[in-house]
Amino acid sequence: MNGAKLPGRAQVVIIGGGVAGCSTAYHLAGLGLKDVVLLEKNELTSGSTWHAAGMVGQLRASANITRLLRYSVELYEGLESQTGMATGWRANGSLRLCCTPDRRIEIERQAASARSFGLEAEFLGPADIARLCPVMSVDGIDSALYVPSDGNVNPSDLTQALARGARQGGVQIVQNVAATGIRSRNGEVTGVEFASGLIECESVAICAGLWSREIARLAGASIPLMPSFHQYMVTEPIDGIEPDMPGVRDPDHLSYFREEVGGLAAGGYEFNPLPYNAVPQANDPPYRLFPEETEHFSQFMPGMIERFPQLETVGIKRWFTALESFTEDTHFIMGEVPEVRGLYTATGFNGMGIAAGGGAGMALAHWIAERQAPYDLWSVDIRRFSTLYRSDRSLKKRVVEGQGRHYAMHWPHHESDAGRPLRRSALYDRLKDAGACFGSKSGWERANWFAPPGVTPIDHHTFGRANWHDHVAAEHTACREVAALFDQSSFVKLLVSGGDAESVLQRLCAADVAVTPGRVVYTQMLNDSGGIECDLTVARLSASEYYLVSGTAMAVHDSQHVRRNMTASDNVALVDVTSAYGVLGLMGPRSRSILQTLAEDDLARDAFPHRTVREVMVAGAPVRVMRLSFVGELGFELHVPTEYMLTVFDALQSEGREQGLVNAGYRAIDALRLEKQFCSWGAEIGPDDTPLEAGLSFAVSFGKADFIGREALVNLQEKPLGKRLASFTVEGDTPLLGGETIYRDDQVCGWITSGGYGHTIGQPLGLGYVRNAAGVDNDFLLAGRYALDVAGTRLPAQISLGALYDRAGDRMRA
Ligand SMILES: Cc1cc2nc3c(=O)[nH]c(=O)nc-3n(C[C@H](O)[C@H](O)[C@H](O)COP(=O)(O)OP(=O)(O)OC[C@H]3O[C@@H](n4cnc5c(N)ncnc54)[C@H](O)[C@@H]3O)c2cc1C
Repeated sequence: MNGAKLPGRAQVVIIGGGVAGCSTAYHLAGLGLKDVVLLEKNELTSGSTWHAAGMVGQLRASANITRLLRYSVELYEGLESQTGMATGWRANGSLRLCCTPDRRIEIERQAASARSFGLEAEFLGPADIARLCPVMSVDGIDSALYVPSDGNVNPSDLTQALARGARQGGVQIVQNVAATGIRSRNGEVTGVEFASGLIECESVAICAGLWSREIARLAGASIPLMPSFHQYMVTEPIDGIEPDMPGVRDPDHLSYFREEVGGLAAGGYEFNPLPYNAVPQANDPPYRLFPEETEHFSQFMPGMIERFPQLETVGIKRWFTALESFTEDTHFIMGEVPEVRGLYTATGFNGMGIAAGGGAGMALAHWIAERQAPYDLWSVDIRRFSTLYRSDRSLKKRVVEGQGRHYAMHWPHHESDAGRPLRRSALYDRLKDAGACFGSKSGWERANWFAPPGVTPIDHHTFGRANWHDHVAAEHTACREVAALFDQSSFVKLLVSGGDAESVLQRLCAADVAVTPGRVVYTQMLNDSGGIECDLTVARLSASEYYLVSGTAMAVHDSQHVRRNMTASDNVALVDVTSAYGVLGLMGPRSRSILQTLAEDDLARDAFPHRTVREVMVAGAPVRVMRLSFVGELGFELHVPTEYMLTVFDALQSEGREQGLVNAGYRAIDALRLEKQFCSWGAEIGPDDTPLEAGLSFAVSFGKADFIGREALVNLQEKPLGKRLASFTVEGDTPLLGGETIYRDDQVCGWITSGGYGHTIGQPLGLGYVRNAAGVDNDFLLAGRYALDVAGTRLPAQISLGALYDRAGDRMRA
């Protein structure tokens, strides 16, 4: 169809006719939305899709992203028979090779995750690998992970089949018409402009690949991706290469291979990728390839020849040197952009858009039709990015580094380097001088641990006991026995104020927040299914003012969640005041006596009880002090106006030193909270987890007036729970890392959501859900015999239903 026949109105307009756009169109049609238009500025597939190598792998570190990729495979298997159009789908399986002991551990861990997520995956030795791929040299290969259901597809044919399915479902696909503008009113999408007109619509999906960032800018929004080059070659036929050869990924040699017309398609992900130093333009040529960068590519050749010696002599038939969009954290981007209601995206696929396209289109279609994700997709949700990635300068540095890590070892506790330091708390230099080893989150520099004098504050990567283990142990122990000071300035702080602040927050929060001013409430905000959208502390400052505190990464997500649930008639305002306050967590049994030396208020237990908030003069500064604890000890959270931070910090250091106060970092926080079974949003809790399952029922006030998610929780209370969170310990001294498979009576029943080492209990520990479709209660949990798969070895594990440390919480309330 050409532009002249375009309708003036549609329910949804999709921009972009690559795999993502066509899959979204196909799935919107499947959901029964008929009034859908897809605009493609050239021809379908003419962006990045047509030149993809077509490898479809499913294994990812997140259960739900693996689930999404598995959906792609299921879809591709049946698409040809459904649409009558060939897709070239072949389930040849895939091999991920391990050539070093560390790689083997990394991939053993991935295999364990695959099994926990329900994906069939098998670890093979060289003889079995050679049987599956006889033409490949197994020299230097220790082992490989074999995923039999992975495969290959022809990307263009797949996309055309999706488009045909979409058309059959009533979608109008219009080629050679570019979207030139996005209209919005009062922060909501109203239409899409093209050269000769406008389509008014309720929702827009930007599926425009590497052009997506520029298109979002037309609407005043930011999609943080950057185009970068990726290349592969296709060889002349090679003896012994058969069409059923499994796809091969050889990360230790940075390369991948698949069969292509009797030869090999062979490409690689280098440590030093080539960014695209130009801005994508609407009139970029379709089907664009760039001259091959053979010199750059030559870095792969020794490793490729080691694997397939035939490559030394075989001719190269064709080069594909082309652009793809990449993101700073190597995950793709989906969801509703926070700046404009009704503006959605699925883009930034980091070299895996063909594999992800089916599932991403399905998920985005649900997101559009139901105005929420079909399940927890936080790791690809656009709201994970903080506003700093509006900056091309910041983004570019991070994206190049991220792309360069595609086949690098995925070490636990890895921190990116590029573009740092960027966001620094007022204490940055003080902490640096004190030996802080910093990590970065949402652009913030945060102290992970402190190196004592004579120790260099650097992480050495390992899957075993880390070089910082003992230093974190010392911080952990100081917090339990004396006192520790944590710089938590990166906490997100939102001020919600106005005559309707109480009623809006009562509607949003599962806990009762209609408390007297001065009270602090720990609460979750739920979705309609009872899943946890936000996990935060709500301090009531006055009749009309609430101060909300949540995790560093949650600024965009949480403020958007609150805003989206305000109505036009609510007299309420939300302001992000994160930058106005630094935060000091003073935690430990001596925290009160240390703070009392500087505070001009009585801090005694009854004068300043647990879960209260006060404005207190501390070291001459006006400080908002909350009595609460995220580590399970007596503690105070000091919210200090930024300009007073150094004063308060210095005073605490000098007064606290005599009493044994130490600096401590985020690695200690994590270990401390695991012992207390305190949940972290994005790990233990998220939109798919209810407070009932997570052991957070105590924070739900069923007795108050209605709140979002209440009805779902009430219904769930009447049924057996399908999963329950518990703590697990194993013997030994190697910390758990998260992702380990949990076996109950030799059956997979879940995975560790956060792992670490409990320095007080003296054991590796982790949290995780035990799942059972027929229901999980205390008896079921306690009756099981548990084991954890730690990199291929099953270790017997002990379960604990509650916290492993101070279960009753007496120490916090001391
Ligand atoms: C060399 C190479 C090999 C790859 N191999 C693989 C692989 O083996 N497996 C895998 O999973 N992935 C692979 N990929 C990645 C894959 O190609 C991409 O992730 C995927 O094609 C992205 O699809 P898309 O729909 O998001 O973008 P695109 O295919 O680029 O589609 C976006 C479309 O939007 C259109 N558009 C842009 N602006 C406008 C506008 N204003 N109005 C209307 N239309 C517009 C464009 O013309 C384009 O057709 C590879 C990538 C490269 C570069």
